[in-house]
Amino acid sequence: ALSDKLSRLVKDMRGQARITESNVQDMLREVRMALLEADVALPVVRDFVARVKEKALGQEVVGSLNPGQALVGIVNRELVATMGEGVSDINLAAQPPAVILMAGLQGAGKTTTTAKLAKHLIEKRKKKVLTVSGDVYRPAAIEQLKTVTRQAGAEWFPSSPDQKPLDIAAAALDFARKQYFDVLLVDTAGRLAIDEALMREIRELHAALRPVETLFVVDAMQGQDAVNTAKAFKDALPLTGIVLTKMDGDSRGGAALSVRQITGAPIKFAGVSEKIDGLEVFDAERHAGRILGMGDIVALVEQVTAGVDMQAAQKLAAKVKSGEGFDLDDFLAQIRQMKQMGGLSQLMDKMPSQIQAKAGQVDMDKAERDIRRKEGIICSMTPLERRKPDLIKATRKRRIAAGAGVQVQEVNRLLNEFEQMQGMMKKMKGGGLMKMMKRMGG
Ligand code: GDP
Ligand code: MG
Repeated sequence: ALSDKLSRLVKDMRGQARITESNVQDMLREVRMALLEADVALPVVRDFVARVKEKALGQEVVGSLNPGQALVGIVNRELVATMGEGVSDINLAAQPPAVILMAGLQGAGKTTTTAKLAKHLIEKRKKKVLTVSGDVYRPAAIEQLKTVTRQAGAEWFPSSPDQKPLDIAAAALDFARKQYFDVLLVDTAGRLAIDEALMREIRELHAALRPVETLFVVDAMQGQDAVNTAKAFKDALPLTGIVLTKMDGDSRGGAALSVRQITGAPIKFAGVSEKIDGLEVFDAERHAGRILGMGDIVALVEQVTAGVDMQAAQKLAAKVKSGEGFDLDDFLAQIRQMKQMGGLSQLMDKMPSQIQAKAGQVDMDKAERDIRRKEGIICSMTPLERRKPDLIKATRKRRIAAGAGVQVQEVNRLLNEFEQMQGMMKKMKGGGLMKMMKRMGG
């Protein structure tokens, strides 16, 4: 769980409407500590916290939340997004037999996971599965695979310590082809530490077998060291997925974030017991909860955020239905939402370079100033004027312009733009709008 200090900090932050440098500093320090405590590697923590900070700064805090709660929400979302990206079941899109190569250090859980995956593919995907061991350095390892393969209900291809791993692989592949196996799972040798000869061996196996999946098996208890291991395997092999084993241990599982970030490969499965059925499809949301340990606050944030979005949607929909229509307050809300998305130039930074080049012809600073000015103009109107813009005649326009520090023409331009938008909104039926907003909210 996040430290008590963080919980206290969260509670202490009341009545602040925005996440700022000053109110977020202590919080971010605690988030950093919490991630380190969960055994996320230091460089990964730095990167992650910087990303969260960038997303959080300047964000308005919705509804009844305080900035601390809102930040926990952002941290959680970022954890889920990072670890959950591209998650999918085993890819079998290959001319059968689809080959799956297991890679990882000794003791990571390769042999156990090979059998677990065999069971998963037989039961969930209805596949005919063959396993083979290329671990010729430890006779017991071949026997171990034989035993667990039998438990999984798959077939095992015999190999022996006096053979070369490449020859074993070729023979197994040939057998799998002739016997119409759908999948060939290749278990490999691991060392206790990264070893160049061993890396060469598994690279050669990869080149010969051309596997559709190359899975990096890593022990969740490995903590900080997981980073170096992951780096070495990523440099040696084009990894397609990660299996995180020993998640039933008491580690907070920070290795998941480290390994995901270092390899770029999706975490596909989690090992949750020594037994053959102890394999689960990786669940990023649940795992984020485990790393962060603030389930109650995360739930609250989600509840409030969903409530606020729904309230706004319902209010707008009710207005459109009652013929009251879209007013300048709604227009202002839209403008603010745009700002909340991080402003135009920040948005542009995330676009591909071709689009950026095109947009170079548009003056982003000017566009942003324009948004701010519009906000200023609407804020200079009375609530009644915002609800009934028809009331705004020449003298009122002059007063509004003076209040916002702009020319009267700009007030006119904004009112014209608003009228166009209102026309569009009127064409939409209330129900359609609700659906649209729900879709936008995911
Ligand atoms: P390998 O050297 O990579 O092939 O690792 P093994 O498959 O032989 O596993 C090493 C040890 O870890 C064995 O005692 C396994 O029973 C155990 N193990 C593997 N996966 C898990 C898991 O998800 N949970 C637990 N508790 N133990 C596991
Ligand atoms: Mg083994």
